[in-house]
Amino acid sequence: MMADTAAARLHTVKQDIRKVEAGHGRPAEAVSLIAVSKTFDADHIRPVIEAGQRVFGENRVQEAMGKWPALRRDFPDLELHLIGPLQSNKAKEAVATFDVIHTVDREKIARALKTEMDKQGRDLPCFIQVNTGEEPQKAGIAPKETDAFVRFCKDEVGLNIVGLMCIPPIEDSPGPHFALLEKIANHNGLTGLSMGMSADYPVAIGFGATHVRVGSAIFGARDYP
Ligand SMILES: *Cc1c(COP(=O)(O)O)cnc(C)c1O
Repeated sequence: MMADTAAARLHTVKQDIRKVEAGHGRPAEAVSLIAVSKTFDADHIRPVIEAGQRVFGENRVQEAMGKWPALRRDFPDLELHLIGPLQSNKAKEAVATFDVIHTVDREKIARALKTEMDKQGRDLPCFIQVNTGEEPQKAGIAPKETDAFVRFCKDEVGLNIVGLMCIPPIEDSPGPHFALLEKIANHNGLTGLSMGMSADYPVAIGFGATHVRVGSAIFGARDYP
């Protein structure tokens, strides 16, 4: 039996994703796994990279800047996704540190990201975060404002919007939130769906997730969320 290590758990999660994809009649590798390494240091991340994982997610710009440049020097084909809220005064660092942004949710951030991408000669794929549960404390654009915001980001700002992202309220059953996100994306001609975490990624895959963001099921429990 394999030891209970992050690399072993990565293997289990990957097998599970392939099984759930097949169960829903989706093509193999329709879903890409983002291994969420927030709070874990480079020593914990390295074995997961060595086990073959190349796509990672972090929720804080500052934290990512501390650990990823060295890992990238050793593994040049890594892909790093920003999945946490972004302040416009961190746009410069975010654009320099990440390859994909999942949390575009207001005009100021959209413009700040575009300005920095132009300055740095980068064109990062972006997801728009939708607050499907309309929770006052949570980031994300309201569902009814999403159509207009997608058009704003694409047509007025010129961002490369590839899809939508959501984090359902913890107390809700996630299915209806995933279904709503899928509906809004469809309506806007967007194919990317960043949804599903350790507790609910199989459900999200059933609703068409293209990117699942899985942390604790791979790295183990975190000391803080
Ligand atoms: C932490 C985090 C995840 C991963 O959560 P787990 O429950 O550990 O899988 C996914 N998405 C976002 C936005 C996160 O902040």
